[in-house]
Amino acid sequence: MRPSVLNPLFASVTSLSGVGPKQDRLFRYLLDRSETPRLVDLLLHLPSNVIDRRARPKIADAVPGTVVTLEVTVERHKPPPPGRSRAPYVVTASDDTGTVLLTFFRAKPDYIEKLLPKGETRYVSGTAQMFDGTLQIVHPDRVVDADGFARLPQIDAVYPLTEGLAVGSIRRAMTQALAKLPDLPEWIAPEVMRRCAFPPFAEALHRVHEPQELTDILPQNPFWSRLAFDELLAGQLALALVRARLRRPAGARHAGDGHLRHRIIDALPYALTTSQQDAAQAIAGDLNQPLRMLRLLQGDVGSGKTVVALLAAAAVAETGKQAALMAPTEILARQHIKTIAPLAERAGMNVAILTGREKGKERRDIVARLANGEIDLVVGTHALIQDDVVFKALALAIVDEQHRFGVRERLALTEKGDAVDVLVLSATPIPRTLVLTYFGDMDISELREKPAGRQPIDTRAIPRSRIKEIVDGLQRALDAGKRAYWICPLVEESEAEGIEHLTNATQRFEMLQKRFGNRVGLVHGQMKGADKDRVMAQFAAGEIQLLVATTVVEVGVDVPQATIMVIENAERFGLAQLHQLRGRIGRGSEASTCLLLYHEPLTEMSAARLKVIRETTDGFRIAEEDLRLRGEGEVLGTRQSGLPGYRIARPEVHAQLIAQARDEAVRIMQDNPTLKGERGEALRCLLYLYERDEAIPLIGAG
Ligand code: ADP
Ligand code: MG
Repeated sequence: MRPSVLNPLFASVTSLSGVGPKQDRLFRYLLDRSETPRLVDLLLHLPSNVIDRRARPKIADAVPGTVVTLEVTVERHKPPPPGRSRAPYVVTASDDTGTVLLTFFRAKPDYIEKLLPKGETRYVSGTAQMFDGTLQIVHPDRVVDADGFARLPQIDAVYPLTEGLAVGSIRRAMTQALAKLPDLPEWIAPEVMRRCAFPPFAEALHRVHEPQELTDILPQNPFWSRLAFDELLAGQLALALVRARLRRPAGARHAGDGHLRHRIIDALPYALTTSQQDAAQAIAGDLNQPLRMLRLLQGDVGSGKTVVALLAAAAVAETGKQAALMAPTEILARQHIKTIAPLAERAGMNVAILTGREKGKERRDIVARLANGEIDLVVGTHALIQDDVVFKALALAIVDEQHRFGVRERLALTEKGDAVDVLVLSATPIPRTLVLTYFGDMDISELREKPAGRQPIDTRAIPRSRIKEIVDGLQRALDAGKRAYWICPLVEESEAEGIEHLTNATQRFEMLQKRFGNRVGLVHGQMKGADKDRVMAQFAAGEIQLLVATTVVEVGVDVPQATIMVIENAERFGLAQLHQLRGRIGRGSEASTCLLLYHEPLTEMSAARLKVIRETTDGFRIAEEDLRLRGEGEVLGTRQSGLPGYRIARPEVHAQLIAQARDEAVRIMQDNPTLKGERGEALRCLLYLYERDEAIPLIGAG
């Protein structure tokens, strides 16, 4: 049960005044939630920047390009001429040094008349511009009368914008939410508070949302850091609670005599790399320990994790027990089964796939065969953790792309057997400091070498203005029988307006189809599973030669014949994502080419990212460069925290806090593993606030 002191923070945002059903949708989008956000979600959405409104010049002294707050008298209103609704509504105002034009586009006339009544004094704040020699403010951020002016903050927090949701609405909601903050018990130990000079939770929230100094919202300052530490501590504590459950009785051994593994290895058309052999051996060692295995297998896309996972499953099958491999998407699950099934079946293992698409009799059949132990290895998606999926003897859970799954899913799968061993596969090489944030103290195997016979990828960055040359080049390549991906960033319709240079996959598909006809296919996230699979299969078979795709191909598509990839708006992608995408080519024996199309002008940061991608294909190096670049880049305004699943903590700023949070979690597990007493209650609050409460049912009885 959630501590009742938290109740006010778990009210939905629609309970705030000014947040109706229409805003509900916008707030969901802003806060990246599928359901109506709660006040706590809003409060933990931290500003990306500040506006300094302390400059209060006369009109004649206003510096163009800066934010100014002017005291003016309203002179004239000039609505757009009839029939020209696109023309701006212009209000002329003045002080004793000059005039300023206040310009509004698509404004309702009544609204402007009320906002700026003729002859009255108003305070107007916004970015000053020079236009034809006259000072102008387009869409002033604030227009207030004398009363409002007295209350106008000197410094305003700014949030990443969402189409249709003005920053003013976010601030108004935030002010109300802050007012509802209850008095919460402190969950951070006093010595940590002192050592890190942390302010209390409520003060930290107030100061980042209502900054008093420009520096108050910097992530390295104590206010943000306190909240980051909270988030990290909640994560570490949840992991520690999971970990504490992971002993198994001595004597339970999960690896067999090796007969199945030998058969698989003998049937492989290639030799395992040294790191694959090492990983397989380490896993077998773990499976034979009386402690449960908790191991991360990291390796670039294409480094050969699947066969290592299969060998782990085979080791378990040798003892008559079962294994399950859970992937985050259906495409990925099917990809795995395609690699696994022929090898496993030749060795005499029974495998099956279970995703949302297996229905009716087919599904019932698989579920029955899992329950009676006939299936040795099942590959699937979330469908695996449905209640009616029961195993006769599940001993090994293999989870691909772990951080896409929450604690709940990870547990749900492991709870389907006794003392289930856990192997996590990650294709996003993570620097060691970060492994801690996701996995806690986990054993790690890395596949650093590429399987033999891989060809290098020639990667180039090209401005989008040269798209015609690229399409011409593509024509030659397709005529020569080659296969290519054309990747477009995902664009939601609501986002599209105002970011005109972003290319929607559908539009690009239509354009390319005009040129290349039915040699082109399209696959995107909104398509049905079966449709996606059909297009993918056509591409794999070569019936389609050019596949236009959103980032759905990021994970798990394996078409070794594809040797060209065009990535549009490459400057919009993060390093890890570019690396993942590019991993789809260079998988066969032919040389490959990756073209990064970018929109000019490039920011320094984007240029640096593209340079890294051009220079190396080593995922571990890319991950390290990524962290370094984030550290160097401007910290403000970067929306992505770089830690999926973490909204506040940033690896480049808070690396030290990660280790401290781990140590603190270890200490808590030693001193108070059942979270009892006042501090225990406070820690439970922490887990709820940062959405790690899934771990609460794991708290031992003590
Ligand atoms: P990952 O899951 O790490 O992205 P996969 O396991 O899908 O990579 O392997 C990619 C491809 O490499 C597969 O086609 C697989 O058969 C092949 N492969 C795996 N190990 C080796 C190896 N040691 N030598 C050659 N090819 C290999
Ligand atoms: Mg794979």
